[in-house]
Amino acid sequence: MPDFPLEPDRATMTEMGSLVLGRIVDRVDRLPSQPATNPLSAQATAELVESFLAPPPRQGGDLKRLLERLDEGADCALEAAGPGHLAYIPGSGMYTAALAEFYNRATNRYGGIAAVSPAFAALEESVIRWIATQVCGLPEGSGGLLTSGGSLATFSATVAARHQRLGEDLAPGTVYTTAFAHHSVAKAARLAGIRAAHIRVVPHTTDLRMDLEAAAAMIRADREAGLRPFLLVANAGTTDTGTVDPLPRLAELTRREDLWFHVDAAYGGFFRLTARGRDRLTGLEEADSVTLDPHKTLFLPFGTGALVVRDLAALRAAHDGTGSYLQDTATPGGVPDSAYLGPELTHEIRGLRAWLPLHLLGTDAFRDALDEKLDLAEHVHATLSAVPELEVPLTPDLSTVVFRIRPADGDPVAIERADAASRRLLDRINAHRRFVLSSTVVDGRFTLRVCVVSHRTHRDLIAEALEIITAETARIVSEERAASAAVGALSAPRPARQGCPQG
Ligand SMILES: *Cc1c(COP(=O)(O)O)cnc(C)c1O
Repeated sequence: MPDFPLEPDRATMTEMGSLVLGRIVDRVDRLPSQPATNPLSAQATAELVESFLAPPPRQGGDLKRLLERLDEGADCALEAAGPGHLAYIPGSGMYTAALAEFYNRATNRYGGIAAVSPAFAALEESVIRWIATQVCGLPEGSGGLLTSGGSLATFSATVAARHQRLGEDLAPGTVYTTAFAHHSVAKAARLAGIRAAHIRVVPHTTDLRMDLEAAAAMIRADREAGLRPFLLVANAGTTDTGTVDPLPRLAELTRREDLWFHVDAAYGGFFRLTARGRDRLTGLEEADSVTLDPHKTLFLPFGTGALVVRDLAALRAAHDGTGSYLQDTATPGGVPDSAYLGPELTHEIRGLRAWLPLHLLGTDAFRDALDEKLDLAEHVHATLSAVPELEVPLTPDLSTVVFRIRPADGDPVAIERADAASRRLLDRINAHRRFVLSSTVVDGRFTLRVCVVSHRTHRDLIAEALEIITAETARIVSEERAASAAVGALSAPRPARQGCPQG
């Protein structure tokens, strides 16, 4: 054992590094054939979980053996890095970002106070300014910070809005969003001290977008009741269906009613790199603040969110605070200290994992990858819309397509049966383990969703997925018909519907 086991020598570092690198390259190579979900039985999973709960030993072990253990643990999971991740909002994690992160963690530069590592603070600021001005279209002078994720970004935006609009008089503050807002929006409001009862759920129109008239009426009624409407949170791509709220008109409403306008673009924001995305996300540039998730649609590893704000001073005013132990730090060259823009002090330089891929590959590569996702989602939408036994209730704004089994008729019993069949369809599809879908509720109905975000998802995987979805749909529907013929409860199957059902 060397004198200082915490400090391996050069030869050992190289050997250890190549062991890790070799495994990672093997893992990435294997991704297309990896099961999309945990292949272990519940029993085997429980045993593995139990084994990982063991405390560390007094004496050290062997790296190769430990890496084997890690691979076992990594395989006991939803394959979040693979091409078949089409559930929730996938986050894929690019190899180049992992390399950046290895460099980042090994150099261990301090993030929080710009003066401590001024060049890397500037590097991070360049990423933030790019997101604020180039991606979101906010004016020069806007800024923000990289966070651990969308939830923390929305939290800091909520705190900034609250601080600017309510001061310390939190009790009458009211917030407006829709039922399709991510749960992090209400959580952020509650964490920011807003009463749960004051988080207003604005009704939506049939296309699942915020109802403007209803929002305006609720704001007026609250104001007349002596409350203080201060924040409206719009969706730029809901998690359920990727739906975008009418941003330009909501911008106008919030201006007229003097509310802070926050847009949750955790999923949708980076689609603005594409022409279609810019078109569909028009109005984002009018927001007071925007949440984005580079660990989703910029393909970075988990732990990378972003908040950009129009008025950096408002964000700073809400998060300011210092101690005498920090009195020697001065901010160089107009690069703000992230510690005064959010709740954290010490953190890694998060910008590095964005900066290296962006500079290495160029922003066009990201635009093209996102364009590919939109193409794939259009293809999924067109293909599933042509299956008569499926209902495809929405045209996707972004890269999420929702579908479900079409009920035999509008009868509540038929609808209930169709929902149960959709549930079974999801299980059947996911049992293949080639890809994974998740579900949600749309119009009170059990609905499956395909969300194409991974940078590793291409046409071949989608073709295979569509084959499996259509084959399993046919199986389920014929089982349904056999079952209903047996009980004589349902009439003969309806003739196939032509064209693309919309609703
Ligand atoms: C993922 C997501 C969030 C939450 O972001 P985290 O990074 O998981 O904290 C918020 N809003 C939307 C629309 C999302 O898709």
